[in-house]
Amino acid sequence: MSLRIAEIFGPTIQGEGALIGEPTVFIRAGGCDYRCAWCDTLHAVDSAYRHEWAEMTPAAVWQRVRALSGGKPLTVSISGGNPAIQDFSEVIALGQAEGYRFACETQGSVARPWFAALDTLVLSPKPPSSGETPDWAAFRACLSEAAGGPRVVLKIVVFDEADYDWAKEVAGQFPDLPPFLQPGNPETDPGQPVDLQAAAGRLEWLVGRATADKWFDVRILPQLHVLIWGNRRGV
Ligand code: SF4
Repeated sequence: MSLRIAEIFGPTIQGEGALIGEPTVFIRAGGCDYRCAWCDTLHAVDSAYRHEWAEMTPAAVWQRVRALSGGKPLTVSISGGNPAIQDFSEVIALGQAEGYRFACETQGSVARPWFAALDTLVLSPKPPSSGETPDWAAFRACLSEAAGGPRVVLKIVVFDEADYDWAKEVAGQFPDLPPFLQPGNPETDPGQPVDLQAAAGRLEWLVGRATADKWFDVRILPQLHVLIWGNRRGV
């Protein structure tokens, strides 16, 4: 069995969501069943980048993570693309045998039994501005697979008013999932600097929107890695 891997990098910090700031090695899976209008990881999605992806056995993936972290256990984040279209159970088993912790981020369109082995599952359904329509039956199937296993959180990217209203409605439908919001980043070109003032303005808008609504059981976070490194890949 082999896995399509777009990149493995770190240790760095997790830049967003529930594990923000946590030292992490990232496994970025190649391939996604979505094509979000504002995808910031096209190099792990678009088949035009397929020649950059590696076919690796789970053992080879694990050896790379192990080498990057110097054999010292930390959190490993499996992201993409959509990592759920592949089988990461063996990588997780290899890592957990050595004391590593695993998180996975997926939009919730494909349910996998290996979700139950994770420490953290980040479900990130895509809002209207993405141009995609979530399959809520599949999303609920993801919750079923994870039941009794990892901490499951909800992460929603918000670009505009319609996304905000949608995020609030979705969070209301899944009250057991702690919600994390982050403002969308329309500047996705890895070769271009990010306008940090504009990024701060988007965050300020989102904070203002939620507090005006008295939506207090939510966490609103920036993309820390974008503030530090812009859209550079591999950090
Ligand atoms: S689900 Fe994520 S990786 Fe896939 S296209 Fe959308 S933003 Fe990109």
